[in-house]
Amino acid sequence: MRPAKQRTLAELVIAYQKRSGRQDLPWQKTTDPYLIWLSEIMLQQTQVSTVIPYYQRFLSQFPTMQTLANARRDDVLSLWSGLGYYHRAHHLHEAAQIIRDQYHGQFPCNFNDLLQLPGIGRSTAGAIADFAFGANYPILDGNVKRLFARYFGIQADLSTSEVSKELWEIASKEMPAEQSGIYIQGLMDLGATVCRRSQPDCQNCPLQHHCRARKLDKVNQIPYKATRKAKGSQSIRFFIYWHANQVLLKQKPNKGIWAGLWSLPEKDLQISATLIQTKESLPAIHHTLTHLHLTLQPTRVQLTKASPIKETTWFGLKAALALGLPKPVRDLMLELQKVMQTQCR
Ligand code: SF4
Repeated sequence: MRPAKQRTLAELVIAYQKRSGRQDLPWQKTTDPYLIWLSEIMLQQTQVSTVIPYYQRFLSQFPTMQTLANARRDDVLSLWSGLGYYHRAHHLHEAAQIIRDQYHGQFPCNFNDLLQLPGIGRSTAGAIADFAFGANYPILDGNVKRLFARYFGIQADLSTSEVSKELWEIASKEMPAEQSGIYIQGLMDLGATVCRRSQPDCQNCPLQHHCRARKLDKVNQIPYKATRKAKGSQSIRFFIYWHANQVLLKQKPNKGIWAGLWSLPEKDLQISATLIQTKESLPAIHHTLTHLHLTLQPTRVQLTKASPIKETTWFGLKAALALGLPKPVRDLMLELQKVMQTQCR
């Protein structure tokens, strides 16, 4: 008797996805490229459970490409506030405007055109092309890289260009001729929910019988962890100037930490002592970004009037909270709201 033919990776993944994969995420069951693109951008470096409420709020305000393209950047950033990696929101908005102006509002269906849009790399372009247009391009997000590295037993630093090239070759070679949308969704699901970074669920993994890392007993050593550069640290002073129900904010430049968001002045604005009603230092706040530990040192300064100050803008607190604000600034605004409410009583 001839031995049974070993099932390919794609066959195993497709069968898994049909049987156990996630089928009811808000961006599934659609081929609308706008909806797929938005979900793919939000899902970069962010978990599904975090993305869902942001995705729904974003779409209720910008239901179409046109509404997003015509929106004010501040409104886009406001809806992104708290999701982090703000360059994604800038790119999303820029790309929507390019599609409106250069593609007559029609989402490009060609892979190479997709790649030209801001914020769309090879993996995201592949996912949009496959999900929205039924194309057949490989994907390779962080979770899928880890899954391939384990399945094929790649014991090397995944961040090097040689290994990245090898992984893309694997990703291309393993693409099935049909059902590519189901296959890439299955890879994403397995990478996110089964072949997790820590404590992968090998017992319930459909790939367990052919997985090289499992055979070599190296699941916990793959992907190989290169020594990470220690995060830097930075201290920032925040000045919360306020009067009545207004607060003074300053927009961050379009590059750097919290690009384009509204934040608090980081310098003492040398306001005349006659205008200062109270001044108090608040406890330091520790906040961590991908590459940086921040220590934020806030000082709250109540003024006797809201005089105009160069390069800053006075906002009513309600309007300020509707802006795109960094998370710690939003928290400080909420605390200020309590102080204002106490004074009104
Ligand atoms: S068997 Fe374990 S290590 Fe291998 S692919 Fe499945 S979950 Fe990942």
